[in-house]
Amino acid sequence: MSRHTRSTRRWIVAGVAAGLPLALLAPQAGAQPPAAPAAPTVDTARHGTTTDLPKVPVMVGSGGAVSSVDRDASQVGIDVLAHGGNAADAAVATAAALGVTEPYSAGIGGGGFLVYYDAASKKVSTIDGRETAPATFTDRAFIDPATGQPYAFATAVNSGLSVGVPGTPALWDKALRDFGTLSLNDALKPAEKLAAKGFVVDKTFSDQTAANATRFKTFPETARVFLRDGAAPPVGSTFTNPDMATAYRTLRTQGVKSLYAGSLGRAVVAEAQAPHTDGTSVPAGQITMADLGAYRALAKDPIHSQYKGYDVYGMPVPSSGGIAVAEILNLMTAYEQRTGMSTADVDEVQYLHRFSEASATAFADRNRYVGDVAGVPVGELVDPGFAAERACFFDPAAAQPRPIAPGVPDGDYTSCPTTTVAERQPNDGQSTTHLTVADRWGNVAAYTLTIEQTGGSGITVPGYGFLLNNELTDFNFTPTQGAAPDPNLPGPSKRPRSSMSPTIILDDGAPFLAVGSPGGATIITSVSQTILGYLDRDLSLVNAIASPRLSSRNGASEPAEPALLASPVAAGLRALGHTLSDGGEIGAVTAIRSFGEGRFEAAAETTRRGGGSAMVVSPAP
Ligand code: GLU
Repeated sequence: MSRHTRSTRRWIVAGVAAGLPLALLAPQAGAQPPAAPAAPTVDTARHGTTTDLPKVPVMVGSGGAVSSVDRDASQVGIDVLAHGGNAADAAVATAAALGVTEPYSAGIGGGGFLVYYDAASKKVSTIDGRETAPATFTDRAFIDPATGQPYAFATAVNSGLSVGVPGTPALWDKALRDFGTLSLNDALKPAEKLAAKGFVVDKTFSDQTAANATRFKTFPETARVFLRDGAAPPVGSTFTNPDMATAYRTLRTQGVKSLYAGSLGRAVVAEAQAPHTDGTSVPAGQITMADLGAYRALAKDPIHSQYKGYDVYGMPVPSSGGIAVAEILNLMTAYEQRTGMSTADVDEVQYLHRFSEASATAFADRNRYVGDVAGVPVGELVDPGFAAERACFFDPAAAQPRPIAPGVPDGDYTSCPTTTVAERQPNDGQSTTHLTVADRWGNVAAYTLTIEQTGGSGITVPGYGFLLNNELTDFNFTPTQGAAPDPNLPGPSKRPRSSMSPTIILDDGAPFLAVGSPGGATIITSVSQTILGYLDRDLSLVNAIASPRLSSRNGASEPAEPALLASPVAAGLRALGHTLSDGGEIGAVTAIRSFGEGRFEAAAETTRRGGGSAMVVSPAP
């Protein structure tokens, strides 16, 4: 399919397929010219009024768009946009609201990555708000000195040792300073109000609380804040978190120095250093006020690659997301060139066979080469020549045996080198949240944030009602690459490797698509599969998101969603040698398609995580 066949007619098809009211789907006749920026104010009193938009997974219209997993959070972003805020303002306000309604996935105590298209400069930038290890961390930080063996992963995730210096408040502050129009003080007001007044508990929140209830009970402060009578709050009840409101009030009135050099930070450090783990052997955390004081959210150049004539921008190191998504897309192109058959034209089995081979190959390379270390061969890993060389073992009729060995990104792509396989699978998380925002001036934000596992470390900061991350468990506890160096071992002040893949795609220099997902290492495959589904497989955006997912990550088996396993496609993949396993529900994508002239399609999950919330400021009539 040519890039230009991706036409506006698809929005209507998308909505009908999702069973949505046509009023939310019809394209707007005659685009409104972009209005001049108004002086932004956030009217927090508006939140919760009858102007609220419904929770739907796709909406088309103008004036700006927000897509997140949560209706309240999307509404906060829409309110900011409606009152003159831009995409950076709305992204921060929406993220802060997700800290309230998705406290087990995101919040003050975690980190994340922002990819941002700035319409004024026509440039894509990124901010790295990843957590850092303490300055005292060594490559043996997760080795028990008593045994010489790594701590059990299931124990380490509930310890202060797993807590990294939070990066989220610093990212919010930097995003607003670099791109926004609101102060932090204003941007956090809606979230503070949401925490104080409460939100209606949905099934996802209740289920996530129930799944965590046993471990939350080992942390009295966490049980006090998040459990009701020792159990998950029932669906339909109102959940308030006055302590979190205090945290937001502190942050917005005292600034981020309250965390990095003040009372909030002292509370974080004290709690991370406290002995916590109910008699287990994992030591307390090592982060100090000096570590907090040294923290910076970092501006970084994005990863840039091209796919089917589009410019694809993703997150650089310490995320592996941008590199891996680029390599997957490059490999899909390389397979087309080798076979002479386009991704659009092959059947579903062959398409997913290609996708599986590409993602397994990209994971072999990211595991071998990518981490927060000097000398990552970024340019080579995203070079189409490297992908062409990596495609030389691709066979349309048979899956490559797993694990696939890493490639040789040395700039010489004339051979078909063989390397040794020395792969052990790193640990994968399952949490996180992603939001996507576009404003009427053409700015776009793709922002993924996390506290690592669902419920993070399980440790709540007393008096402030938010959970601390366990992001440092994203380091490999022991080397995974045999005799080769492992780029993702723990180290002093190092940032653990991530899979988060907020992605912005431009068409002829203008925003076209913004997309991202939670889901640990599956983020990379969910984002890539959504892009491929939309660009190559003739799916509407919401259907590209809804398609059953396959997450082949170079392991012995390839996790697939139940709907895929139940389809004839699974038999076809098995016949090619793929070993599929039940991956349960994978990811929770949100995306926005810009049509230009201020018109958008916001899209989200139809059913995963209870369905996402896609909104635009002015729905098309
Ligand atoms: N810690 C994971 C990462 O940075 C994200 C957590 C998750 O999605 O499970 O890749």
